[in-house]
Amino acid sequence: MSSTTVINPADESVIAEVPHTPLEAVDEAVARAIIAQRSWAALAPADRARALRRFAETVDGAVEELAALEVQNSGHPIGSARWEAGHVRDVLNFASGMPERLNGAQIPVAGGIDVTFHEPLGVVGVIVPWNFPMTIASWGFAPALAAGNAVLLKPADWTPLTAMRLGELALESGLPEHLFQVLPGRGSVVGERFVTHPEVRKIVFTGSTEVGKRVAAGCAEQVKPVTLELGGKSANIVFADADLEKAASTAPGSVFDNAGQDCCARSRLLVERSVLERFLELLEPAVQAWKVGDPADETTEMGPLVSAAHRDSVLGFLDDAPVAFRGTAPDGAGYWMAPTVLLPSRDDRVATEEIFGPVVSVLPFDDEADAIALANSSIYGLSGSIWTRDLGRGIRVARGVESGNLSVNSHSSVRYTTPFGGMKQSGLGRELGPDAALPFTETKNVFFSQE
Ligand code: NAP
Repeated sequence: MSSTTVINPADESVIAEVPHTPLEAVDEAVARAIIAQRSWAALAPADRARALRRFAETVDGAVEELAALEVQNSGHPIGSARWEAGHVRDVLNFASGMPERLNGAQIPVAGGIDVTFHEPLGVVGVIVPWNFPMTIASWGFAPALAAGNAVLLKPADWTPLTAMRLGELALESGLPEHLFQVLPGRGSVVGERFVTHPEVRKIVFTGSTEVGKRVAAGCAEQVKPVTLELGGKSANIVFADADLEKAASTAPGSVFDNAGQDCCARSRLLVERSVLERFLELLEPAVQAWKVGDPADETTEMGPLVSAAHRDSVLGFLDDAPVAFRGTAPDGAGYWMAPTVLLPSRDDRVATEEIFGPVVSVLPFDDEADAIALANSSIYGLSGSIWTRDLGRGIRVARGVESGNLSVNSHSSVRYTTPFGGMKQSGLGRELGPDAALPFTETKNVFFSQE
C-alpha cells in the first residue's frame, strides 16, 4: 500500500508515515456510511444536537493536543494553531443548534396543507486543502452532520494528522461508528472517487480553482451538488483619508498570516497614489518587525511554508519580480521564506496570479473608481479590506467590489456565525453562518389533501 511521509516543515524531520486509502476501501467506507447515516437521520433532532455538543466538548478537551499536532505537521505558529482547534470546537457547538432549527415552511394553498421539509442528502464527501487542515474540514463536516448526513473527509496529502485525530475524537465523544470517517490518501484516488461514486450525494471542495473546476465537471456528470471554496487574489484598498498608521501596521498580518498560505490573503495592496510614498515608509518597519521563526515559540507570527515543493513554487514567482523590501526569516533546515513586498505593474504575473506565499504586490491607484476597477480586475473575488474614514466611500466601495467577504477598517473575514465564500472563480455557494446546514439538505414539498 502506498503512503505519505509526513514532514515537519520547520526542521524537515519525519513525523509520521500515513498509509493511503485504496480505492476499494473508499467504496467500503461509503457502504458503511450509508448504513450509519440512516440511523443518524432517524434520531430525534435533540439527540443529534446532544451528540454534536459532546463532540464539541471532546474537541475542547483536546485543543492543546490538536494545536501541537498542527504546529508539527503544518508549521503554524502555536497561537494560531490553538485558535484553529478552538474554532473547530466553536463550529461544532454552533452546528449543534442546527438540528432543532431546520425549520420548513407552511405555504398557503387551496384544498389542504402544504409544508416543506429539509431532508438530509445522505453521504457527503468533504475534500480539504493543506493550508488550514482542521478549520476548513469543520466548516464542511459540522453542518453536514447537523443536517443528518454522514461525512467522508479527505484531508490533503501533506497535512492529514489533525483531521485523522478529529476522526478519533468523534468516536471518543460517542458519535456513531462510520458516521464520520477520515480517509487520507491521494486526491486523484480518494477525492476523485468521492466525485464519481453515485452514493456520495454532495461534494464540498476547498482547494485550487484548477482542481475545483475538474471536481465541478465530475459532479455535473451526476448532477451532484457541489460547494466550491477556491483561490483568491484579494485587494486591501487604502485611501488617502484612511488612518494610514493603522492600515500600514495591520497590512503584514492581512497577507503574511499563515505565511500567506491563506485563500483570504490580501496579496494585492492598493494604495491611493497621493499617499504611496508615506504608506511605504510606514509599511517597511511593520514588515521588518513581522516575526518569522520557530512555530512552537509563543511570540512567533509566521512559521515556514508547508513543504519544499510549495516553497519552490512561491520562489518561482519572484525570479524577475521588482522587490521593494523584505522582512527576515531563519536560515538552515526548514522551508523558510522572508515576507516580501513587490512594486510590480498592474498586469505583471505576480500582481494577477495567486502565489499563496508571503508575498504582497503594492499597486497605486488614482481615485475611487480606479480603486474599484483595479480590485475587480481579477478572475477571483473572495475577500478584501477597505481603509477610509469616509463612511459613504466605505459603503460605496464595499458594494462595488465583487468579493464574497469584505471588511472596512479591519481585516476580519472568517467568523463561524457569518456566511463565507467567494464570487467569480473563487467559488460557488457559501459555508458557515446561520444557514450553514441548508446546503446539506434537499427541500421536499408535500401537499396534504383535506379531502
Ligand atoms: P488543491 O491542490 O486543489 O488540493 C485540494 C484538495 O483536493 C486536496 O485534498 C487534494 O488532494 C485534493 N485533490 C487533488 N486532486 C483532486 C482530484 N482530481 N479530485 C478530487 N480531489 C483532488 O489545493 P491545495 O494546494 O491543497 O490548497 C491551496 C488552494 O486552496 C489555494 O488555491 C487556496 O486559495 C485554496 N483555498 C481556498 C479556500 C476558500 O475557502 N476559498 C480556503 C483554503 C484554501 P492531495 O493533497 O492528495 O493532492
